[in-house]
Amino acid sequence: MCPSSPIATTRGAGSSSSAKLAKSRAVPQVAAEAASTQRWRAMQIEGAGRPLQRVLRDRLPVPAEGQLCIKVGACGVCRTDLHLVDGELPLPNHPVVPGHEIVGRVSAMGEGVTDFVVGDRVGVPWLAWSCGRCAQCRGGRENLCPHARFTGWQVDGGYAEYAVADARYVFRIPDRYSDEEAAPLLCAGLIGWRAYNLTGRARRLGLYGFGAAAHLIAQVARFQGREVYAFTRIGDEPAQTLARELGALWAGSSDHAPPAVLDAALIFAPVGELVPTALSAVRPGGTVVCAGIHMSDIPSFPYALLWGERKLMSVANLTRADGDTFMRVAAEAPLVVHTQRYALADANQALDDLRAGHVRGAAVLVP
Ligand SMILES: [Zn+2]
Ligand SMILES: [Zn+2]
Repeated sequence: MCPSSPIATTRGAGSSSSAKLAKSRAVPQVAAEAASTQRWRAMQIEGAGRPLQRVLRDRLPVPAEGQLCIKVGACGVCRTDLHLVDGELPLPNHPVVPGHEIVGRVSAMGEGVTDFVVGDRVGVPWLAWSCGRCAQCRGGRENLCPHARFTGWQVDGGYAEYAVADARYVFRIPDRYSDEEAAPLLCAGLIGWRAYNLTGRARRLGLYGFGAAAHLIAQVARFQGREVYAFTRIGDEPAQTLARELGALWAGSSDHAPPAVLDAALIFAPVGELVPTALSAVRPGGTVVCAGIHMSDIPSFPYALLWGERKLMSVANLTRADGDTFMRVAAEAPLVVHTQRYALADANQALDDLRAGHVRGAAVLVP
């Protein structure tokens, strides 16, 4: 899909908004630059297992009805991007620009957009579009829409100087964060938030894999009075130090048992072996949430680890409601966002560093 294809004429459930769009008297504000022939850069995936290719585009994108064109200020590098580049997730049958943690400013708007003006700062998340009609969408689970399209996967993303997004799926960003700080909120923060909420009122929370998502959710959990236990790759002292700095009560390697039985655990590392490990660390009735889109195979394990009404579940994608609530929390909680900044042209280096576990906090591309 190209960015202009996933535009629907309905907002959320039902078809009332096409009527709204039709009725709208707002005059579309199109920045003069949208019509220009300014050249701009993007990094795109042309095939699994190959480095991203630098491409130059001749014309700025012209947003279609309901769309925003966004001048990218920063774009986070997520493990999902790595899964795409490494061929662990299927690629669309055309080159695609990855990146679904986009922060930027509206540079042009298509017809019918009334909620924004040119210059507004917005964040573009993973969920680019959902159908609004299926049972999942109507049931408030647009994250599970079988027709959903995702930024940086079916729709070009933010490893670029410009991106196009459906105005109904973007968020406003709390002022307290710079573009670079805000970018990781769009997926690491937001998907982490959805996973965290699935643990209910868990007081003792284990986090397996202390990267971009965990370093944000640890702070949210501390802000809300929970205890955080952080598990890292064996011997990853810098990550353990960061976890302690951010308020973790305990930090250690994932092959160590925590000093207290956990109420819940979130697994951010894409490592299936951590599932039985985490189950063995939570109390009866506790919850283990797998928070990544891809994970290596889960080894078989004794039923006793699941027995006792322990729950094992995954978290998939996000809803716009998740984004709205998380942005409110992020506006209130003074999250310290640790970023490792890369130039857009160094996107391959950022991916390599993420793969090797050499990123403290979140990698962010700044064009
Ligand atoms: Zn749907
Ligand atoms: Zn992501």
